[in-house]
Amino acid sequence: MASSSEAEILRVSQVIRDRWKIKSKVGGGGFGEIYEASDLQNHNESVAIKVESSKATKQVLKMEVAVLRRLQGKRHACKFYGCGRNDEFNYLVMSLQGKNLADFRRETPRQCFSLSTSIRIAHQILEGIREIHSIGFLHRDIKPSNFAMGRSTSNQRTVYMLDFGLARQFLNQKGEMRSPRSAAGFRGTVRYAAVTAHKNKEMGRQDDLWSLFYMLTEFIQGSLPWRKIKDKDEVGRMKENVDLNSLLEECPLELHQFALHLKTLGYMDTPDYDYLSRLLSQVERENGISQDDPFDWEIN
Ligand code: ADP
Repeated sequence: MASSSEAEILRVSQVIRDRWKIKSKVGGGGFGEIYEASDLQNHNESVAIKVESSKATKQVLKMEVAVLRRLQGKRHACKFYGCGRNDEFNYLVMSLQGKNLADFRRETPRQCFSLSTSIRIAHQILEGIREIHSIGFLHRDIKPSNFAMGRSTSNQRTVYMLDFGLARQFLNQKGEMRSPRSAAGFRGTVRYAAVTAHKNKEMGRQDDLWSLFYMLTEFIQGSLPWRKIKDKDEVGRMKENVDLNSLLEECPLELHQFALHLKTLGYMDTPDYDYLSRLLSQVERENGISQDDPFDWEIN
């Protein structure tokens, strides 16, 4: 479904490093292009390859590789298979996942998920965020299209975190907090960005969680009040002034508590991930949600 007018970096049937044969393009995001390929040295297993032109003004693949390597072994990370560069492009080979959550949401009749699907997905995303924070990085672009479900029977109910192109290290080599910069450029996606990002301030761990909070609210209700507003500053003001009771009208009360905890946190603070997880478990319990429930897209 490649619709880009720009020349694509790779072509179908091209083989990279005598090993990965390009099958099709699966995504073309802001910075790179994603292809499905088969691994000729491993029973033609399908893999994903993210490529970035060597001429790209913003080179982010190196950061992605660094983060993905450190995340190896974590539940919500893709497997890292290899990386490299030549005169034309930089590439990263990783496990191929299924559809992303923005695609799943778009396919629903009311652009929203059931409470059961929303909460269980959010719970896994919370774990994923905790994992990336545990290796000393912030993701800084938490949004539905940056999470995909697995595609094999063994992992199709697991959520995978994608796209570390905007990640930033918040711990230094010694494991201490890096000092916050007094000003930082806006990073992320307007709809899901935390107020800190709108204010061009240094983002902290709580800001990835604010993005999760906005995502979850949108999953449950089908939209956010600023969905049609293009102006970044206007959206920032709306988020800052929003009344939680009206924002969360159709959401469980625990989401208020979720937001109230985030409100207490500044750059230096460690979020209470266990508390947030307990809140989500409480919603699951109170609503008879079971881990065995089908996800919305598994019905029919
Ligand atoms: P960009 O940084 O260019 O936005 P992303 O890494 O966010 O690129 O990927 C764009 C899209 O490509 C994702 O939303 C997802 O649908 C798809 N994608 C990315 N990585 C994978 C993967 N490992 N497996 C399957 N699909 C992927």
